[in-house]
Amino acid sequence: MRKLLLTLFTLTAMISNARSDAAAQSRRQRAERADLLVLGGTVVTMDEGRRILHDAGIAIKDGRIVAIDTRVAIRSKYSALQTINAQGKLIVPGLINGHTHIPMTLFRGLADDLDLQEWLTKYIFPAEAKNVSEEFVRVGTRLGLAEMIRGGTTTYCDMYYFEDAIADETAKAGVRGVLGETIIDFPVADNKTNAEAMAYVERFVRHWKGHELIVAAIAPHAPYTVSEEHLKAARAFSDRTGAPIVTHISETKREVDDSVKAKGASPVAYLERIGFLNDRVIAAHMVWPQDGETNILKQRGVGIVHNPQSNMKLASGVSPVPRMMAEGLFVGLGTDGAASNNDLNMWEEMDTAAKLHKVFTGDPKVLSAQQAFELATIRGAQALHLEKEIGSLEVSKRADLLIIERDSLNQIPLYNVYSDLVYATKSNDVHTVIINGRVVMRNRRLLTLNESAIKRSARVFRERIAKSLSLPTEP
Ligand SMILES: [Zn+2]
Repeated sequence: MRKLLLTLFTLTAMISNARSDAAAQSRRQRAERADLLVLGGTVVTMDEGRRILHDAGIAIKDGRIVAIDTRVAIRSKYSALQTINAQGKLIVPGLINGHTHIPMTLFRGLADDLDLQEWLTKYIFPAEAKNVSEEFVRVGTRLGLAEMIRGGTTTYCDMYYFEDAIADETAKAGVRGVLGETIIDFPVADNKTNAEAMAYVERFVRHWKGHELIVAAIAPHAPYTVSEEHLKAARAFSDRTGAPIVTHISETKREVDDSVKAKGASPVAYLERIGFLNDRVIAAHMVWPQDGETNILKQRGVGIVHNPQSNMKLASGVSPVPRMMAEGLFVGLGTDGAASNNDLNMWEEMDTAAKLHKVFTGDPKVLSAQQAFELATIRGAQALHLEKEIGSLEVSKRADLLIIERDSLNQIPLYNVYSDLVYATKSNDVHTVIINGRVVMRNRRLLTLNESAIKRSARVFRERIAKSLSLPTEP
């Protein structure tokens, strides 16, 4: 009897196990496959309606966001090999650093407290002439990439030399970049003539065409360092290839005065006159647009990148950012190179932007925390002409996102998400970084870069640079 009962019990258990196995299997079959799920937490979408979703979930497949919904809905609809629990945390779009010169991290702190002309001509150009090589560029780029990932920057726009090596390092680290090879009218480390530079940029743009992380660009340095003929050639190149044009425009009052003297027009009016401006141009600074010029910039669809800390440090002036935003121009935010900032920290840049314009106009409402966050996300994407791909968390966009810790002392308690993000959150609060669907930092650990090796090689360059400029060997 006991044996019979045991057999019956075993049979019943087997049937019930089989039933639940079948149910699980059919659930798995019904579930759509994704590569990565982020479950729980509050999603700050930065979409058109600026929706903020609590206890949400995101499904990611082939580098793109395929669904955003409640955590429960995403969990029941999707299965994935990798799941990240973001409960209690914030999920925000990756930050966009709209203007930098990434290898200049190796010149961090080399020369400070000077105006732009003196800083450039007495220190930076000579230091570059003596030190910039492909190896220098690779080491400085890796240092900058590590700093940017730690700080939650997922896309950056760059202008430097050996930009193909920068693109190579950037792609290997899994970071997104709009990367411009410099065109400048004096011999530089990678190219000695304009013909050489144009041949380089031709190969460079062809090499990266269609890459999912890298947008290769042409970067005529500025209207005061590149001739009219060469600016026109850069524009023609962009027309032919579709490559963006990265440049500096109207950074200082002196640049405007010199331009009026030499060319009979301010930088924007001059560039308009020679047919340079279009909706592929990404113009850093724009501190001194003259009367009526913001209208030209708007009509031409020029992207503008505000660099408040660099402009403050070099005493270049205050760009009329609130007015340009109100007029519907595409304005983003950048750090500029680490030699004039001196870091690549977009949290500081957002905080500075919001506060600079308040103190400058005497109006605390002139640029809100939410607007400052827009500058580093969706508006930054517009300034780089990439708003269809990045800048907000929406279905079909690239999966570039950050998971932000909310348990740091500097974030407690919390009343308003944007205020928390712009005025209280620090780089250290970035917990996990996902770019193009790939986790590049998890729980503060860099997964694509070797931090100690990066520090070591950057310090070797510090010695070489100091020696080349006869600086003391100890700081
Ligand atoms: Zn710059």
